Amino acid sequence: MICIPITSRTNKEALHAVERSCRFADFIELRMDLIGEGNLDQLISAVRNNYGLVKIIVTCRKKEEAARAGSAVRVKSAVQNTREKIALLQEAIELGADFIDIELAEGQKAIKELKSLCAKRGGKTKIIVSYHNLKETPALNRLKEIFRQCAKFKPAIVKIVTTAKTVEDNLITLNLISYARKSSPEIISFCMGDKGGISRAIAPFLGSYLSFATLGKEGQSAPGQYTVSEMDQFRDWFNGRRKTPLAPVLSLGRSLPKNYVLLGNPVGQSLSPLMHNAALQKMGIEENYSAFCVQDIGGAMDGLRGMNIRGASVTIPFKVPVMQYLDDIDDDALEIGAVNTIVNNNGRLNGYNTDWLGVMLTLKKAMTIRNKTFVIVGAGGTAQAAAYGIIKEGGFPLIVNRTMEKGKILSRKLNCPFYPLSEAGRIKADCLINTTSVGMNPQRDKSPVAAETLAGYKYVMDVIYNPLKTKLLADAEKQGCKILSGVDMFVHQGAQQLRLWTGKEPPRTLMKKVILERLTKIG
Ligand code: NAP
Repeated sequence: MICIPITSRTNKEALHAVERSCRFADFIELRMDLIGEGNLDQLISAVRNNYGLVKIIVTCRKKEEAARAGSAVRVKSAVQNTREKIALLQEAIELGADFIDIELAEGQKAIKELKSLCAKRGGKTKIIVSYHNLKETPALNRLKEIFRQCAKFKPAIVKIVTTAKTVEDNLITLNLISYARKSSPEIISFCMGDKGGISRAIAPFLGSYLSFATLGKEGQSAPGQYTVSEMDQFRDWFNGRRKTPLAPVLSLGRSLPKNYVLLGNPVGQSLSPLMHNAALQKMGIEENYSAFCVQDIGGAMDGLRGMNIRGASVTIPFKVPVMQYLDDIDDDALEIGAVNTIVNNNGRLNGYNTDWLGVMLTLKKAMTIRNKTFVIVGAGGTAQAAAYGIIKEGGFPLIVNRTMEKGKILSRKLNCPFYPLSEAGRIKADCLINTTSVGMNPQRDKSPVAAETLAGYKYVMDVIYNPLKTKLLADAEKQGCKILSGVDMFVHQGAQQLRLWTGKEPPRTLMKKVILERLTKIG
């Protein structure tokens, strides 16, 4: 549903704007703080007389709360203080407005007072409790907390609007909608600002109650607002009625990012952004890669589609759950049962697995795979990816795992032997691969197997790359084994992702160099 804000300089202009806007709007928001000498009675009557079905929201922000959109919005509030503002909202209730908007920051007393007046007047007027952040977009957990605080007042709608400082901020407000939709009340959420237009376009499709749009560019009440005609184009595009890409529509005022993202939880320590951005720069591709800590992977998939993000890496814990949200999954990823790469083809999300290629390219550089035996320690996603590649290349995996049940399930799936971790010492094979997280920073003094177990192996590989030389690899080296580090796997799986996204060969040497430099610095 579209809400057109009325922000005219004079009451006369506002009456004209109401007349024009009612033809296109489901809601009219009377911004009484921006309309000079606004006569609420006349304005409400004008809406009612024009189109009886159009709902009216009355809003009145104090100067410091009114959003600034460069020259497009005058930040000159007609109300000076809370008292004036509450009086105006009370008048709106008396005049039978459908909604009044009151900021959470006005406090419990003011909100309760207005609620009780609404109830006294028969409940015709409903309350919107709102939160606006004109500086930034707080973290998702903080926004959830704010949503819960607003919801405590049992309003009809909670409105949470923030300022996008980065394109990624859009995902936070979009995720908030998914969260809020699980309970009442209704939610309106999006980001303001030039970088926030994307959430304005997508929010209605995720269940945001209404969208603010203007008739023309001059009527903006907040930065980044689209026109009604632009919003119509988005709606047609999302509903499949428009075949042209979204980019030309968005180019009416804003540019659409064509970026790459990492989706996981946690992602703070990830070196993928460093590696991928160095590669993209070297490849002359003016796009970037950033990490998102995601709560709701389904919501993030909607975000990828809507924001036309070209590709995503997927990491713990979403490699399996993400599969249900994709349009297509390639055969290797289906066999492995996990996706770590997504390619966005004009809104169709295709899933791939490059972890197995990372393992194989690392192994193949050092040895032949055919007819060789490989002890794989672990039975998770990476174990599965490694075993899949080894079988595909004619080698023989043996699964060793701490949890017997999980190990047995994987070995049955792969039709290969299983041994409990406690029996690792009695197996002989050509190569041992650790696919567990044992030995990863900060647990540097840990190894998944005893040092003496490694005697007799020609090759030992660790998928862990931080630290560069894990205890397992240090023990293996002492036993005379050739060691293969997780850095090579990391670089190859990332390079394969870039190939899928860009169709070009990435600079693997450079990618390894930046990772080695960073890991050496970390120590
Ligand atoms: P996963 O699906 O959760 O599987 C983890 C496996 O490790 C499970 O089999 C688990 O055994 C085992 N494990 C965990 N803690 C253990 C412990 N203390 N002792 C013995 N076994 C233990 O994880 P994943 O996605 O496969 O990832 C595993 C590792 O691979 C992570 O460290 C990840 O960072 C790394 N990785 C590296 C790259 C790279 O490019 N270098 C790529 C992908 C993943 P149970 O079955 O007994 O729980």
